[in-house]
Amino acid sequence: MAYVATVLAGCGSTYDLDQIRTRSDDMAAEILTAYYNTDAYGEESDLAGIWASYADLADPGIPEYVARQRDGETDPRERKRLDYLFYDTAGTVIYDRLISLQDEISNAEATGVVVVDGDSIAYRDIGIMFYNETDSELRLTYYEAMGDFEVENLNPLRARMVAEGHSGLTEFGFASLDEFEALRRGLDHDAFEETVLDLLGATRDVYWELTNDAAHDVFGVEVTEVPDYDRGQLFRGSEFDVYFDAESMMPFMEEIFLGMGIDIGSLPIHVDDEDRPGKEPRPATYGIRPGEDVRILIKPAGGVDDYESLFHEMGHGIHDGVVTVTEYEFQRLGDYGVTETYAYIPEQLFMDPLFLSETGLITDESVLRRFLKNQLLGSLGSARYYAGLFRYERLLHSGVRTQEELAQAYGRLMEESRLVPLAHPEYGYLSSNEDYYGVNYLEAWILAAQLRHVFRERFGDRWWRTKEAGALYVELMEYGAELSAVEVAQHVGFEGLDSSYFIDEVRLAYEAYR
Ligand SMILES: [Zn+2]
Repeated sequence: MAYVATVLAGCGSTYDLDQIRTRSDDMAAEILTAYYNTDAYGEESDLAGIWASYADLADPGIPEYVARQRDGETDPRERKRLDYLFYDTAGTVIYDRLISLQDEISNAEATGVVVVDGDSIAYRDIGIMFYNETDSELRLTYYEAMGDFEVENLNPLRARMVAEGHSGLTEFGFASLDEFEALRRGLDHDAFEETVLDLLGATRDVYWELTNDAAHDVFGVEVTEVPDYDRGQLFRGSEFDVYFDAESMMPFMEEIFLGMGIDIGSLPIHVDDEDRPGKEPRPATYGIRPGEDVRILIKPAGGVDDYESLFHEMGHGIHDGVVTVTEYEFQRLGDYGVTETYAYIPEQLFMDPLFLSETGLITDESVLRRFLKNQLLGSLGSARYYAGLFRYERLLHSGVRTQEELAQAYGRLMEESRLVPLAHPEYGYLSSNEDYYGVNYLEAWILAAQLRHVFRERFGDRWWRTKEAGALYVELMEYGAELSAVEVAQHVGFEGLDSSYFIDEVRLAYEAYR
């Protein structure tokens, strides 16, 4: 903490905790509103301008002051609150120094042009062209063009971002982003990595069989023969999209939540499902003012991914809508694994055979069996990817490895998740970085399975039809982010996060489709 202390000694400022909280809350609301206006109406946002108007929050004396208040606080709840605020304000100071570099990266992505067979294509568009391309040779061309662009134009900037973030953290006395994130979230990363390794080990054989079956179905070859640029095709499952039509999606969603006693119309949630040009197709939730003004954007296109995304975002929206805690810290900060868990609970209904058949979505038993198999493949594919990403980010953010070592480590750890080698780790070893956001998903896979176990035990296999399960779901969400994922697990009777419930669900799902 030497750096911050010197600054403080020099100016001797005093601070007001409530003012820091109000300013931080207002900044969050303004940034979310700007994102919302961009995504909803295609308006250009001035994030740098917003950030500049809150320059007072980039004062390095603030986190030092908050830390001193925290260390002198004896009430456990107030202390926790100050702890959340400390990591938030420290993060603001560190991020403030990275803004111009972040701008440079965004500009390089926005203006980048990739040349494919003599044609110029915007870098922004090539990902979706690659995804939708049915011709394998063209996919290879796009894949390599994208990869080369990353390596030449984006990776040098991203490497600087990781390095400068790291030096900012060490000035604050943290060993690395790994340590900062573990402390901020209250999660022991070494122990969690063991949990993640258990999850990888226990799902290995099932995943191998699923990917291999998909490779045979789609390409008629072993999974080891499927090149990376074709691999995405294994997970598409578009044959099932007919069971999830766009028109029924919103009323279906409202009816399901109503069955759990949750009337979306009575909550301060505005769901905008209008189809208009300039609107971002990716669904998202904006907790502009938790408990007062929550907005969800969705552009219904149909298909299971769309249904799952809507239910996921509704989980976030209800969480932000029903909070009863009033403190800035407990409304907005803490462990985002908790809100991801509340989003996974409704999203993962689309893996429940009783839900799928009894709501009339898929009633044909052989279709249902194939669908569930595809859902398990997708879910395991994501969970195993994030497991590998967590293991890799721990190395990426350690601050001691060379770019060559990192690319090599990325290839090795991704192979342990995918179970097949990755041909070009140098393409993705910096773009895959999410600064530990993926930990939230890992916590959510584990905790959502634990909560479902509780719902089933208390309210039966059709818990999603009961008001009692809805009431417990809402009761947990009212805490906002006051409880961490571990504390939510303890609140409903577990010792902590336990991956065995997730692993049991995978085994059951495997038995069900065989
Ligand atoms: Zn989410």
